Amino acid sequence: MIQHQGTVVNALADIETVTPRLLVDAMLGRLAKWLRLVGYDAVYWRDGSDEALIQAARADARLIVTRDHQLAGRRGVAAILIAAETLDAQIAEARAALGGDPQPFTRCPECNSVLAELSRADARDLVPPYVWHTQTQFRRCPECSRAYWKGTHWLAMAAKVEG
Ligand SMILES: [Zn+2]
Repeated sequence: MIQHQGTVVNALADIETVTPRLLVDAMLGRLAKWLRLVGYDAVYWRDGSDEALIQAARADARLIVTRDHQLAGRRGVAAILIAAETLDAQIAEARAALGGDPQPFTRCPECNSVLAELSRADARDLVPPYVWHTQTQFRRCPECSRAYWKGTHWLAMAAKVEG
């Protein structure tokens, strides 16, 4: 039993020393997307038992982000509880609790993959003309192939989250 507790404490310490990797519980899909926009590695847990979720989080050293009081309060479970109803308030709660140093414009908000650089020349056929003419920084998701640019979308997000 003592050995088991020691293992749990070590896992928690590991999570707290770096920008936490997250496993976002069902019903927080919009928050998961926003967490990716600001740069957190946030896997979205669509369905499955609490036990399966806890096992998945442990196996991948992820901090659970949940609205479930019972789940967040379970002994040995590394989790933060999101109590707010609105997205804005949920973002504020998450920002206060998570810490770390996430880098915006690094994760695909749709699928959580790490974005790859996309040259301006290569972006020409992938983004709307007005975007190509007005933007300079482009990235592309290697998994879902979506193209992104560091324009008003990301800037509005950053202002909202940090303000
Ligand atoms: Zn993607």
